[in-house]
Amino acid sequence: MTVECPACGHATTERTIDGTSFDVCAGGCGGIWFDWHELERVDEPGEAHGELLLDVPVDPGTVVDHDARRACPRCPGITMMRHYRSVKRRVEVDECASCGGYWLDAGELRQVREQFRSDDERRQVARAYFEDVFGRDLAKMRDESAEQAEQAHRIAHALRFLCPSYYLPGDQEWGAF
Ligand SMILES: [Zn+2]
Ligand SMILES: [Zn+2]
Repeated sequence: MTVECPACGHATTERTIDGTSFDVCAGGCGGIWFDWHELERVDEPGEAHGELLLDVPVDPGTVVDHDARRACPRCPGITMMRHYRSVKRRVEVDECASCGGYWLDAGELRQVREQFRSDDERRQVARAYFEDVFGRDLAKMRDESAEQAEQAHRIAHALRFLCPSYYLPGDQEWGAF
């Protein structure tokens, strides 16, 4: 299925790498659409076939409004959420809450791939971050009252957008949410 680029409106084309087809805005803004779980396959430098997505040709005349919210190219009527890809808070990506797909602008995949060498490193960094910033407070809230526990649960739930790969319910060392 052809996808219209959510950033510039150009028609995307499919590029198949290692058995997975990615929709790229070749000859437009150079962005890439990742269906659910596709980004995980190419977001680290060890995933060598991801290199093949780093050279999407861009039309330098294409205008992209980087502040505009974008519609999911797969889900009618759904606006994607913009959030940081990881706790390092360097790269902001658009994610569809409905289908779980991601839109990355030109150059963002390269930045994402430079952040972590492996899934293990990603998890270690995320774990340390959550424990430092939130862990103790959330654990305390959870133990204080039912109302506080509910609030802690909501905060923990919201945090999953900062690092989806980290958020596995019940898996946090500082308490099950
Ligand atoms: Zn585009
Ligand atoms: Zn969607």
